[in-house]
Amino acid sequence: MPAMNAIEVKGKLVLRSKKDQALRRFHPWVFSNAIKESEGDFEDGDCVEVQSNKGKYLGIGHYQDSGSISVRMLSFFNEEIDGNFLNDRIQNAWNTRLKLGLYSENNNCFRLIFAEGDRLPGLIADYYAGVVVMQCHSSGMYQSRHLIAESLMSLEAVTAVYCKVSSSLKKGSSENLREELLAGNIPDQLIATENGIKFLIDWKDGQKTGFFLDQRENRLLIGELSKGKKVLNTFCYTGGFSMFSMLHEAELVHSLDSSQPALDLLEENLKLNGFESQNHQSICADAVEHIKDLPEDYDIIILDPPAFAKSRHARHNAVQGYKRLNAAAIRQIKPGGIIATFSCSQVVDYALFYNTIVAAGISAEREIKVLKRLIQPGDHPCSIFHPEGEYLKGLLIEVL
Ligand code: SAH
Repeated sequence: MPAMNAIEVKGKLVLRSKKDQALRRFHPWVFSNAIKESEGDFEDGDCVEVQSNKGKYLGIGHYQDSGSISVRMLSFFNEEIDGNFLNDRIQNAWNTRLKLGLYSENNNCFRLIFAEGDRLPGLIADYYAGVVVMQCHSSGMYQSRHLIAESLMSLEAVTAVYCKVSSSLKKGSSENLREELLAGNIPDQLIATENGIKFLIDWKDGQKTGFFLDQRENRLLIGELSKGKKVLNTFCYTGGFSMFSMLHEAELVHSLDSSQPALDLLEENLKLNGFESQNHQSICADAVEHIKDLPEDYDIIILDPPAFAKSRHARHNAVQGYKRLNAAAIRQIKPGGIIATFSCSQVVDYALFYNTIVAAGISAEREIKVLKRLIQPGDHPCSIFHPEGEYLKGLLIEVL
């Protein structure tokens, strides 16, 4: 007898010969070209069992109609997908964040669930001072949203759950997928604290879940380098890096983004932290254009663009985009200046990103020292068998 709230397994997929190897190594994706045949009557978002060509049970996952990934694996063992299963996975994710020391008086925002890295593929959930903003990237997770919200609400520190839907899922679905408050209440002004700095979180209309938690450690690092320095923070969103440069008494901070609503929030964040002063300026502009001719001799430039490549066939153009952007910054920064440059494109791996910065340096005709490699923090964990999860890569470089 399945438990009351168990999600029914609606069918079975049998893989082609040798296509079971990735799953046996706990890689959580089944690509459409790996499937030999299917049994049963199942639809987009249903739970299906996956079997090898020889009939070996490989696990259970969410079936997805659109896109190249047909199944996102929930478990590699024979277990029921129900409220208890979700409770365990979510509690486990919460415990990881506690171990990392991310829930404290000084810090009450972090990524609580990072999809494959927390063994819940297709689900992102960010925690902001009690409020969880979840984002569904698969139909299966969207259909399980009420069960997920129930599990989240069972955590003592969670007071509300809001559900968002990724743009790719919206595009791939014929239904009108709703964004909605699933549990609790959210205050009019949601303020979260990251390493002692307060941020207003625009959970409803802001980008992604409302804030970019993956740069927490890199913001601290840049802050510490900023004393007495002239800083240009491009693609600044609501001013994550800028606040830490202000905290550490930068000489001036220029924050640039193409989104005026993001900059409006940035101005609110400055006030919230008592940083209103003459030495900050917001610039609403296209970063790629603006950076071609910089009016100031900056000591530090931050380049944190959105993903230029969302798919493999967009990769070539993306790399050219990263190269041009970086070459312009490298060309113009003052001698001894520091650039923190990032890519969050999943399809651009570390080697490709590194080589792109090499190409930018050659084109700018400047010598460069690599000071540090920058990565995503521990609340964006990756299964060791799923390197695709390592999406954020960066370099801290000194330009001579
Ligand atoms: N560094 C930020 C996160 C950056 S997200 C932080 O610490 O929070 C990427 C940002 O780039 C978004 O705010 C988006 O509005 C902005 N953006 C996208 N295209 C842009 C462009 N061409 N010029 C300037 N900003 C752009």
